[in-house]
Amino acid sequence: MPHHLSTFSSQFSPPPARHYHPTLSIWLSVDPMADKYPGVSPYVYCANNPVRLVDPDGKTVVPNDDDAKQLYSEYKSEVHKRLNNARESLSNLQQKKLEGNKISDRKIRAAQSAVNQYQTIADELEKMETSQIVFKIYTHTTGPSVTAYGSTTYNVATGEVNINVGDEKKQVVDGWVATISRIMIIAHELKHGFQYLKREIDFNQDGTQGGYLYDYTDEQAAIRRGAMFAFGTTININAFERAYGLGALQDRKDPRSYESLTPMQKESYDAQKAHGIYH
Ligand SMILES: [Zn+2]
Repeated sequence: MPHHLSTFSSQFSPPPARHYHPTLSIWLSVDPMADKYPGVSPYVYCANNPVRLVDPDGKTVVPNDDDAKQLYSEYKSEVHKRLNNARESLSNLQQKKLEGNKISDRKIRAAQSAVNQYQTIADELEKMETSQIVFKIYTHTTGPSVTAYGSTTYNVATGEVNINVGDEKKQVVDGWVATISRIMIIAHELKHGFQYLKREIDFNQDGTQGGYLYDYTDEQAAIRRGAMFAFGTTININAFERAYGLGALQDRKDPRSYESLTPMQKESYDAQKAHGIYH
């Protein structure tokens, strides 16, 4: 799942386990993408918005086999389950407030934020499923690197983006042993897939490495997306990001996206289309 610049995937030596943490309960719920949809009101979702049916046969998100299909379906179900729970919580709080109970604005805002976060993921998946780009999901593989959790690569021959998901692993993070589940990995890699769709990342000429647009913020967003699905594990996000090789992107801290390029840079970037690496 994680990437660093040289292989677009993560390779690092984990620190020795210092201790195990027995009571694990928190997952991270930070997603930098959430603020990219500022106009989206959670109230709208609560009002007569039926739950979208989970369709495992997404049009342009294509699982390679039954295992990949099941994993993608599990991930989508989890996203929609959490979205529904978040909507319900928000709705309950609003109802209680209407009934005259004292409910703090902070509590309402937090509930809205949760709705927004999961709605953002659901929207991203839908956009990927209806895009012009084929995202092919492979499991039991980590792509070009055997030590990575997963990877997102570009198949130069087929023009498809490969979402490569490795098997579940245990990982020492900040002295604690965390389980890196396949849901976490697919969440991470699909975030990269969406970033590609948004022209926030690209690939190099053989499709295996981070291209010019790939930067610190892209990897951080993917790491945080994966961490949202770290069931039953307390994770220090900073340690998590360090463990995932985010430090390798220190020299790429300024966000790069196609939209951020100057006209001249865009021209130069577009000229590389001949290589067939991106769209
Ligand atoms: Zn990554």
